[in-house]
Amino acid sequence: MKHILPNAMLGILGGGQLGRMFTMAARAMGYRVTVLDPDGDSPAGGLADVHIRAAYDDRAALDRLAETCAAVTTEFENVPAESLSYLAQRVRVSPSAECVSIAQDRIAEKRYISGAGLGVAPFLAIETATDLDRNLADHLPGILKLARLGYDGKGQIRVKTVEEAKAAFAELGGKSCVLERQLNLKTEISVIIARSSPTEVVCFPVAENQHESGILDVSIVPARVAPAVATHAQDMALKLAQAMDYIGVLAVEFFVLDNDDLVINEIAPRPHNSGHYTLDACAASQFEQQVRTLCGLPPADTRLLSPVVMVNLLGDIWRDDEPAWDKLLSQPNVKLHLYGKKTARIGRKMGHFNVLAEDVEAALSQALELKQMLQA
Ligand code: ADP
Ligand code: MG
Repeated sequence: MKHILPNAMLGILGGGQLGRMFTMAARAMGYRVTVLDPDGDSPAGGLADVHIRAAYDDRAALDRLAETCAAVTTEFENVPAESLSYLAQRVRVSPSAECVSIAQDRIAEKRYISGAGLGVAPFLAIETATDLDRNLADHLPGILKLARLGYDGKGQIRVKTVEEAKAAFAELGGKSCVLERQLNLKTEISVIIARSSPTEVVCFPVAENQHESGILDVSIVPARVAPAVATHAQDMALKLAQAMDYIGVLAVEFFVLDNDDLVINEIAPRPHNSGHYTLDACAASQFEQQVRTLCGLPPADTRLLSPVVMVNLLGDIWRDDEPAWDKLLSQPNVKLHLYGKKTARIGRKMGHFNVLAEDVEAALSQALELKQMLQA
């Protein structure tokens, strides 16, 4: 494919923080950006050259994107896959509607991953209440998860018995779910891949992720796992991207089990929160890779320049006032990123900061100290 070069207009579906950081990377490289987002106050809208304020399935808005953009990408997986396939008739789109629709549905996702010969947590598709009359013993205690539209631990209920599973299914509205066995996790890691073509593909260093209440809290890079585990995760992510013929940036989340076996938890067809460390600690960020893969350029160097720990900033730390930013900004090795969201809410992702240090343990202890200071 011919390279799309600076000055071209790039389109993105979604104007949240991921769209904002894509927009910043694209504009830094001299591209122009059009954001489609229904929200007039979206984090990316104000930074883009053009903000089309419309729904993601608005045909007139999609026509305008197709007419004015050289290529279109997405920042979240719940964009209607039909919108991507509609656009793809007229303009370059990455990732493809097919890849996005796999990631949109936990049942399709898990079937696809195991079909590619890669491990997932033992699961049952629960499409109707009668699916819960099967023998659930191998999947309990488990987690019942909505097949579609869950994120940050939302749409999930932990269940120990068949009765609890039935009650949870009703509580989730009787919608399609997966019942996943609850596994003992040694740790959680993730890998982000940038793939422009079958021969142009790179892998970022593995991140170790800690969650709080189902939301990513801290990412630690390099992950504190055996080198063989890190390599295995990267190999699995590459194998999956190849099986999907994926073009773009793909995030793969893994569970590390007690015996160091890996299973894939879920995938995201876009840059990922656990890849925000790349903004300050890698030769190229995951958002620059999104631009490059969208434009048919080879992905850039993913080399880690420094050990790093990323901490998410949730709305919880906004009380009557802004948090004490001077505590962060007075540290020469800390990089603050705020998403420009006007209202803080509990659990809402407002920003993050990266701590760069000589070694990962020093970065981690400083990061946790700063996090605590902001909460005080
Ligand atoms: P989300 O789409 O909300 O990120 P996930 O499926 O990734 O949902 O689950 C969120 C978190 O819940 C995971 O990162 C992990 O900590 C925990 N979790 C999810 N599934 C399992 C499981 N089968 N066993 C143990 N822990 C799990
Ligand atoms: Mg997850």
